[in-house]
Amino acid sequence: APRAGPTLDSVLENLSPAVSKFGDLVADYGKGSYVWSTDGRKHLDMATGIGVLSTGHCHPRVVAAIQEQAGRMIMAQQNIFPASRPMVDLVERFRDIMPPSLTQYLFVSSGSEAVDNAIKIARSATGRQNVIAFDGAFHGRTYGAMAATTSKTVYRQTFGPLPSGVLAAPYPYCLHCKARAAAGGLGYGLAPNVPGVGADYAGRACCGGPLEALEWMLKMHSAPADTAAILIEPILGEGGFLTPPPGFLDALRVLCDRHGILLIFDEVQAGMARTGTWWSHQQLSAAQPDMLLFAKGIASGFPFAGLAARPQLFQAMSPGMLGGTYGGSTLGCAAAAATIDVIREEDLLGNATARGAQLMRGLLDVASRFPAVVDTIRFLPPLNVSEEEIDAALSIFEDSLAEAVRDCT
Ligand code: PMP
Repeated sequence: APRAGPTLDSVLENLSPAVSKFGDLVADYGKGSYVWSTDGRKHLDMATGIGVLSTGHCHPRVVAAIQEQAGRMIMAQQNIFPASRPMVDLVERFRDIMPPSLTQYLFVSSGSEAVDNAIKIARSATGRQNVIAFDGAFHGRTYGAMAATTSKTVYRQTFGPLPSGVLAAPYPYCLHCKARAAAGGLGYGLAPNVPGVGADYAGRACCGGPLEALEWMLKMHSAPADTAAILIEPILGEGGFLTPPPGFLDALRVLCDRHGILLIFDEVQAGMARTGTWWSHQQLSAAQPDMLLFAKGIASGFPFAGLAARPQLFQAMSPGMLGGTYGGSTLGCAAAAATIDVIREEDLLGNATARGAQLMRGLLDVASRFPAVVDTIRFLPPLNVSEEEIDAALSIFEDSLAEAVRDCT
């Protein structure tokens, strides 16, 4: 039962003000799609730790896996024990869900660390120093990842100098483009289905030609011989849930192959079944990356992350060049293996697809009643959210929108 508990006021002065706080709730406990705060209120959770609680709060299978592992072994350490029982379980599952050419995995503890390691590997494997990321991307807060992050200046202001050699190319940002507007679409995610928009995309017809801009970049800023990798979120997360036009990822693959540049997909937010396939790039392209980064939803909330890579990329490296105390933690591996089992056994790929379509239909319906809506609103429900919970979220959202419009007029 809910119990009255501590308030934010009681600790606020001890918490760093540099961490943004979207409200004043103190979390107490969670179950499925719901969270209870210490004031006894119940909340429908459409944020899920910013896309982390893929199987919802405290899925019994995930809780049991963590509890059982905690009773057997909390820490093994990957240098002392190169593998642990739960790591073996996880690797066996990864073989089925990773792109087939990415057969070697590096485990770390956060998405930012995965990005930093990807940059290190790309530089080391190619002997080239530059990495091209995209405008509006969020890759993390450690120095390497921050250098590739341009979704807001607040993530980097006053922290420079940043590591050099990380550049940003224009992302195919089609939200307000004329072609999309002409097709009457709302949000680029819809445009690929609209004839004439994106369907014959060759990087030149739409939104200023981002592919052409990338080619210019390789002529003017970073010669191919200096370019180690292109790093992209296949679906832009923090930058506004934007989907690149069909053909864009394929074109990147061709460009990278032509110049010996590595292609890195940051699937930290959009991956792990969120789009209805294990990885979001599979919605858009058959192209395989040279590295795929995962974190967030992979372990249903337990801090766990890493990357999958082509084995050739590690060939010239010596033992010790990569690592970390908590990499491949036993609890993280156990939580990730249980998460994959739940996604499979409860058909959460199917549910994500069905609930995603329901949410999109509902949001377009709401938007049609609010002409003021032009911007992106991010919903990150658990992948096992129910039809009724999505309906409830839509109705709460519509009420909030009506209130906001009333307040503004
Ligand atoms: N990449 C992407 C696409 C992300 O969305 C995030 C986190 N929002 C990160 C990397 C960084 O992950 P973390 O916060 O675990 O360091």
